[in-house]
Amino acid sequence: MWLFALLACGSEDPVQADIDFLTADRLEEATLRLTEVGPRIPGTPGEEAAAGEVEAMFRDGGLTATRAPFQWDVWMTGPATITVGDRVFSAEPIGPSRSVSNFQTALSSEGASGEAALWFSSDGGLFGQYLSSMFGGSSAMIRSTDVLDYDGGQLVEAGYGLSGNSLPAVAVDQETGLALAALAGEKVTFNIDTSIVPDHISYNVVAKVEGEIDVPVFVVGHYDSLHLSESAYDNALGVAAMTLFASQVQQGKKPRYDVYFIATSGLEQGLVGSQAWVEQNAALVDSGHLVLALDGLWSSEGPFFVEASDPEMRKRVVTAAQEEGIVDVVEEPSVRLGSDHAPFMGHGVPALICGRWEDRHYHTANDTVEYIDFEMAAAAMRSQWKILAEELEID
Ligand SMILES: [Zn+2]
Repeated sequence: MWLFALLACGSEDPVQADIDFLTADRLEEATLRLTEVGPRIPGTPGEEAAAGEVEAMFRDGGLTATRAPFQWDVWMTGPATITVGDRVFSAEPIGPSRSVSNFQTALSSEGASGEAALWFSSDGGLFGQYLSSMFGGSSAMIRSTDVLDYDGGQLVEAGYGLSGNSLPAVAVDQETGLALAALAGEKVTFNIDTSIVPDHISYNVVAKVEGEIDVPVFVVGHYDSLHLSESAYDNALGVAAMTLFASQVQQGKKPRYDVYFIATSGLEQGLVGSQAWVEQNAALVDSGHLVLALDGLWSSEGPFFVEASDPEMRKRVVTAAQEEGIVDVVEEPSVRLGSDHAPFMGHGVPALICGRWEDRHYHTANDTVEYIDFEMAAAAMRSQWKILAEELEID
């Protein structure tokens, strides 16, 4: 598109905005480009293929993308079972659970030290329960996903705890959780088959649009996925929106600030890619005007959370979201640190992140494109674009 427009103009004058990239159709198309790669798990060929696809998406918008490598020890999930008596239940490892073979302990209902803690999702978040197990001296952890899917199907929320820890930890569905609760006090045997890929090289994929002044604005979002699901709204959707923003900025008038679009890997295991990028570019990040994180933009349910360092900006997003027809908008008083904006905030960069995160498909195998309402996802995307465009003075 960009090349064609240049040829048509016959000059190197800035090309006037003529395509609306921020439509539901384009968002769906871009999301599918990533989900059709298959699972984008660090340490697998899917991660590499996803990086290539993101580069192609930037390229199709007229930008040049580069790969910024970083090296880390990747945790790989695998099959897991827990056995009580003659009953064998299948489970999903919670990272970074170590590989254990016939690890025996007692199944606790009281959370007693030295026993396997059994948690229910209705009682709290995975990360907090992981930390409680770890610091409470549990020998292992089992977490049951209490909620069922819309059709009554079982769900299993997998996830990641604290890097460097090796607590045997698994997630199970509601049916298994209820069965285990009735077996409290019995001996339980864990078999968890996980591994570490040491010194793996992952890539952040970065594209830049030059601005009028040397002050950066960062748009970040992760392309890696947690497990074998499509990881559609978390976060193929966010990266899709990012590449559309990039196309829209690229074809318009020169923005006030330099804009860096950064698609990261390794988020699901502790923001590894964004931390690495911020470390590699610390002086640049220090001078940042804004970081916009695109993650969990629009899931199948829950309120639309708006979080911004600047309360005035937060109000502008809320108004923009309401104008886009989003009804259940919640203004958060502070910015939570759960995504790629966090390392930037650590360098004092004001942040903006919006999304629907209280969703039953979060980190389950059912985070698939069939559950994304792309009309509403596009509305969520445009409500953030409005603020980005205002900041860049290209609106
Ligand atoms: Zn996630």
